[in-house]
Amino acid sequence: MKRMFTTPFAWVLGLTLCLMAPITLAQQKLPVVASFSILADMVREVGGDLVEVTSLVGPNADAHGFEPTPSDAKRLAQAKLVVVNGLNFEGWTNRLIKSSGYKGEVVIASKGVKTIPLPPRSNKDSAQHGHNHGHSHGHNHGDIDPHAWQSLDNANIYVKNITAGLLRALPAQSEQIKAREQAYLKRLDEMNMNARAAFAAIPTEKRRAITSHDAFGYLARAYGIQFFSPQGWSTDREASAADVARINRQIRDQKITALFVEQSSDSRLLERIAKDTGVKIGGTLYSDALSAPGTEADTYLKMYAYNVDTLVKGLQQN
Ligand code: ZN
Repeated sequence: MKRMFTTPFAWVLGLTLCLMAPITLAQQKLPVVASFSILADMVREVGGDLVEVTSLVGPNADAHGFEPTPSDAKRLAQAKLVVVNGLNFEGWTNRLIKSSGYKGEVVIASKGVKTIPLPPRSNKDSAQHGHNHGHSHGHNHGDIDPHAWQSLDNANIYVKNITAGLLRALPAQSEQIKAREQAYLKRLDEMNMNARAAFAAIPTEKRRAITSHDAFGYLARAYGIQFFSPQGWSTDREASAADVARINRQIRDQKITALFVEQSSDSRLLERIAKDTGVKIGGTLYSDALSAPGTEADTYLKMYAYNVDTLVKGLQQN
């Protein structure tokens, strides 16, 4: 007879717990703020359901010229963990964090990566004229190339740094976090192996390209690609006939095999150069931000795969 009472009671209790569980879990999610979309994605991969991640600089947005608003400071103040790139990529974070009153841990995702220097400005001409060329938008304060996430070996270190931060914030969930980290690192490794094989199949003399952006130094080093910045390239004025002639000459002299457009940059000049020189445009590369949710490069791994695929096809087509 006793059982008849315990069973419905247990059932009711179980149902109540089920109904309550989602609310309780939602409340427990760790609020994490990342400085830009690529880091936010990495935090989501490792943290899964345990974290609620927001990115200060969203998809397709420029982290260098970012101007924080009061709502960004508010989001930071409510965070329990903050993740930034470091290497002078987002110089605005220190001041913003300070003014927000956030006192928690700031994970510097790039800590411990092998850095490379920023490529020397080949563009003496435009420097003399005071023009911004290509990728000078804000991180020429340092001599180090801040785009360290463009190598998967470095991404491995980013993920480990992020994981360490999450483990300190959520020690009770360490098993789950570590399991997610391992699964993610495995995917990064697999992508790295595939990318190495794909680039190795392209003759070295064909791995010579022009981009409008200096953001791919780490990727270039990882896979033996040579990227050249177009000389006389300026983003704040129309290219003159002399600029175009100089870039065309450079393409012939340096035996460039493909041109690549940078995410959200104006491709008209590249199109003109492609027409003049017969060197084809290989496509668009993503450097500093993911694409909008639901599109081709909306996660770090998708972005990386997209870039590798675009580069491999583009370098082979000529
Ligand atoms: Zn950049």
